Amino acid sequence: MEQIKFNGIVLKAVDYKDKDKLLTIFTLELGILTATLKGVNQDKAKLKFAAMPFCFAEFVATSKNGFYTITECMQIESFYNIISNYNKSIAGFLGLEISSIIIQNVPDELWFITLINYLKTLEFSNCNDYVAMIKFILTALNKIGYGLSFDCCSECGLKFVGDVYINMEMGELECATCKSANSTKLTRQQFAVLNIINNTDFASLSSIKQKDEVYISILTVLKHNLQLRLGTTLKSLK
Ligand SMILES: [Zn+2]
Repeated sequence: MEQIKFNGIVLKAVDYKDKDKLLTIFTLELGILTATLKGVNQDKAKLKFAAMPFCFAEFVATSKNGFYTITECMQIESFYNIISNYNKSIAGFLGLEISSIIIQNVPDELWFITLINYLKTLEFSNCNDYVAMIKFILTALNKIGYGLSFDCCSECGLKFVGDVYINMEMGELECATCKSANSTKLTRQQFAVLNIINNTDFASLSSIKQKDEVYISILTVLKHNLQLRLGTTLKSLK
């Protein structure tokens, strides 16, 4: 039996056998792995905090034939604010869900940092939760090779001047001349706000001020696009 240490964030925790939990952990060192946390459903279990989504910690585990059993857990960051707020928890679970879909069991340091930055934005900054979600979805689209190009039409290559459409078949932005039956129109305001969020780092998102209804309409379109690109329904955004 081999002992290993890794830094990770719990994406999912489900009951396993009588008293155990099975954790899906996105780790910095190994990508996504599944690990057992034994006895955690007992009243006096000391690692209860480790069996919660959003637990960001350093874990110690034993590994045998590719199965991991957690033996120790030292919390690095608590995302209490996210869990205790309805909107933030939806946004937070979206981050965990998307990560569980797009990351495999290989290390991805860049996405690990992106997820932690996103959760820190939700937890600590004054950033609007919808803005953070839009930024995270845009970043996820980039990551899976469907990043939106805001400069020019993906079809004809001309700079956008009038209306802009998102082609739901291709997941690309296009102009009014090139749009197809599968294209959804973005208003000038939606396009402008989306472009600003795209060009702003997580750390500076709190400077963006717009009405919630604009963000929600953008999120509806982006969610539809991301679900088509991933070929799945996002449960956290139902
Ligand atoms: Zn065009």
